[in-house]
Amino acid sequence: MDDAPVIKFMGVVAGGRGEAKGFMEIGWVREQCRNAAGFDPYPGTLNLKVDGPAFELIRRTALNRGKRIVPPPEAAGFCEARLLPVLVHGIGAALIYPMVSNYYGDTVEIIAPLLLKGHPDIKDGAAIVLSLLPPEGAPLSGAGEYASLKLITLDWEGTLVDFQWDLAGAVAETISLLEAKKVPRETLAGQNYATLYNLVTEKGAQWGFPGESLTAAVDQIYDRYDLDAASRWTPAEGLLQILAGLKCFKLALVSNVGRTGIDRMLERFGLRESFGITLTRNDVRFLKPSPEGILRAAAWAGAAKNETIHIGDSLADLFAARSAGVKCGIVLGGETAAEALLCEKPDLVLEKLSRLPIALRYGLQPNP
Ligand SMILES: [Mg+2]
Repeated sequence: MDDAPVIKFMGVVAGGRGEAKGFMEIGWVREQCRNAAGFDPYPGTLNLKVDGPAFELIRRTALNRGKRIVPPPEAAGFCEARLLPVLVHGIGAALIYPMVSNYYGDTVEIIAPLLLKGHPDIKDGAAIVLSLLPPEGAPLSGAGEYASLKLITLDWEGTLVDFQWDLAGAVAETISLLEAKKVPRETLAGQNYATLYNLVTEKGAQWGFPGESLTAAVDQIYDRYDLDAASRWTPAEGLLQILAGLKCFKLALVSNVGRTGIDRMLERFGLRESFGITLTRNDVRFLKPSPEGILRAAAWAGAAKNETIHIGDSLADLFAARSAGVKCGIVLGGETAAEALLCEKPDLVLEKLSRLPIALRYGLQPNP
């Protein structure tokens, strides 16, 4: 197999013929797209108008290295299609190229695990840049860039393992504890587990609890929820190999989970040696969305803001990264719904952690 450098081209978001939605909902189409693209496609496609040379390049690339979508014998009247992994505004998607003679000569169609038009910059008439990615496992040429990346900080739950924490249970229990301690009820409304923790740390002394004794009480509750989640966590598919593939970077774990739960699971999953530093809930004063953990990791690595990316699954990760001034990549399927994450324009959006090494190499926009 030859080297597979990244190919970038510009397209303008256009309306389609409206045929794609029904097509994408056919059982065998969905299943084959799922196998070839690595995600369950959102019904419907994004149409992009491209110029003649770009269309010809895409057509040839689809024929040469596109994964085949082949209609089963009973699906008479359907044609074969080819699928190529692409990044659209950092979102892991795929270009689908139907091999029909009357296909558009100037338009390509993109499928994704979510509604691409949920991204604030993907609107009709908008010009966007697409990167055609090398297939997973292909030998990589020198053409990819890491955008001067030095440090990757990684979230734990929902990112490296699946999301299992009982958010509602932990918040309810913490609020009852605080109410029992006569903390004013109105200050607790609308908090999630992380902002509640940060509020307790910030205001504990003011509420009449010396030192950080109130934070320690909340920690005890959260430790139990950590261990409850730990009893169900399973690591992302191929986690050890993925982390090994990122060895050229400094790796830091920055988690809102406590030390006890993290240490136990690093041991169980054989990840003790995978990170240069691990920062848990017990190693910082303020949890994500505070940037404290990411900034601590960057100081440890001697990495500048533009040399750092944080990878997580939640808005807390995204806001922590933004506050720290670093890039943020999102792995879908964790704590926060895809739609809410997309609105905040993460630098990368990946359906699976296994796409991270290639996406970092080819999908990150260079730093200013
Ligand atoms: Mg998480």
